[in-house]
Amino acid sequence: MKIHEYQAKEIFTRYGIPVPKNKMVESAEAIDGALREIGGDTFVVKAQIHAGGRGKAGGVRVAQGASEAARIAREMLGAKLVTRQSGPQGRVVRKISLDAAVAIDREYYLAVTLDRAKARGVILSSQAGGMDIEEVAHTQPEKINKTYFDLVFGLASYQAREVALGLGKDPAFVKAVTQIVQKLTEIFVRLDASLVEINPLVLTRDGAVTAIDAKIDFEDNGLYRHPEVGALRDPLEEDPREVEAKKYNLNYVGLDGSVGCMVNGAGLAMATMDVIMLAGGMPANFLDVGGGAKVDQVKAAFKIILSDERVKSILVNIFGGIMKCDVVADGIIQAARDVQLRVPLVVRLEGTNVEKGKELLRQSGIRITPAEGLSQAASLAVQLAGKS
Ligand code: ADP
Repeated sequence: MKIHEYQAKEIFTRYGIPVPKNKMVESAEAIDGALREIGGDTFVVKAQIHAGGRGKAGGVRVAQGASEAARIAREMLGAKLVTRQSGPQGRVVRKISLDAAVAIDREYYLAVTLDRAKARGVILSSQAGGMDIEEVAHTQPEKINKTYFDLVFGLASYQAREVALGLGKDPAFVKAVTQIVQKLTEIFVRLDASLVEINPLVLTRDGAVTAIDAKIDFEDNGLYRHPEVGALRDPLEEDPREVEAKKYNLNYVGLDGSVGCMVNGAGLAMATMDVIMLAGGMPANFLDVGGGAKVDQVKAAFKIILSDERVKSILVNIFGGIMKCDVVADGIIQAARDVQLRVPLVVRLEGTNVEKGKELLRQSGIRITPAEGLSQAASLAVQLAGKS
């Protein structure tokens, strides 16, 4: 789960990582009051969207004086912002953060994430911080330092110092950065984050070290332990198909292909996507309706798949174990009656109550292409997607 920069900064403040004074606003009326509260005479107006690359896209703008800041803030609120991470359709800016500007001497990069292959935490740090860290990682990977740590024993203090010494030698700087590295790691471990990032971490002209950007991504599977983190979710920033799927407890991930998939079981869903690709097609989604799906869930799953305009055919692949084939068949029939089934539907049923399920489908009068076996089902779905 992603959260906004202003929310990540609130967490930083709670853990003692310094950030510039800032205030989130979501209405034009709140702007003047927020600027007065921040004070000073130089401000940074920052669009709050769940996508990076805002700086280069005009989503981070420096303003001299409160009236210029207010003008920029009003312009930004409600406008659409297209960044290299937002997708070509861009995002509507519903929230902005008004920050006190700091006089920057140097910019650094600092992040904590998980190295899944090594099953360890890793701190990424670089003197080449700022807006182009992805480019640095690509072209000059040697400029990014990696420090691994054990997730159970945590980060040793000498390691935190080592990270800081990799960025600078001034004693006050090293002390400040060491503390920030320790706190960043503490946030990462305690809150079950998958990424905690500061880009850039800055050394100001008066020698202070502060995080002018903040990003935290959380591991969805850990959210049940942190209801206060779950409460930070902003559904308006998420894929509407995935938001809808969550309501029905469906495991759905939106992809870009043309073959919609409805499968029970995550392993079978992965295998189905593989076989679709083997047959020369591209899946439009990952969807695991779960072992004990009810008619309502199957119906909802269908509607979500069909709401995606890229979907040109649907492949239903059900292996009835706990899930019974007749329940799926019933869901398919109800959904097909409820929504306009605008694309061909290939169904492969196997397992518990399979004959009952097939019979229900036959009697329903809905146009279905039945398939025997997964490879035939996938080839048919891919062929039909190509034709429609
Ligand atoms: P993004 O990563 O989405 O482009 P950032 O938060 O990193 O957005 O902001 C982009 C740039 O704007 C920073 O690299 C920094 O140079 C400048 N900036 C952002 N916040 C401030 C601030 N409070 N004071 C001064 N400069 C800032």
